[in-house]
Amino acid sequence: MERTLAIIKPDGVARGLIGEVIRRLEKEGLNILAIKMIWMTKKQAKGFYKVHAGKPFYESVTDFMSSGPCVVMVLEGEDGINAYRKLMGATNYKEAAKGTIRHDYATDIEKNVVHGSDSPQSAAFEIAYFFNELEIFRE
Ligand code: GDP
Repeated sequence: MERTLAIIKPDGVARGLIGEVIRRLEKEGLNILAIKMIWMTKKQAKGFYKVHAGKPFYESVTDFMSSGPCVVMVLEGEDGINAYRKLMGATNYKEAAKGTIRHDYATDIEKNVVHGSDSPQSAAFEIAYFFNELEIFRE
């Protein structure tokens, strides 16, 4: 079993897609171990996306991520990181496979509805960025 950090981004929350995203990940067998709604400050968004510091889209993506509330979740499942990334689809929604969340709902390379960790290292950093161990449910 592997954990990953998932976010329903401000565009997904504003467009009423929380239920749809959660329906898809639960159907895929991913379990929600922790969930909350947050509104990041610009500074918090910059810290979250610090791997992208210096890239041309860093300012704009951190403006977007701090523009409204997000739903952040810790998910767990078999091959959880890849399983959730498969559900999300490619970063650029124009390249995302049919039936993926980004193919079906993204409107822009930046406004692409969801985030998911891309490696065990980023999952560990991202989960700890938003949740402490006491907030993460386990049986
Ligand atoms: P992800 O792991 O699929 O979300 O992709 P990345 O970690 O590479 O990028 C993080 C986020 O930055 C993406 O989800 C997009 O919202 C945004 N992003 C990535 N590449 C670009 C780009 O070339 N232009 C713009 N405007 N935003 C981008």
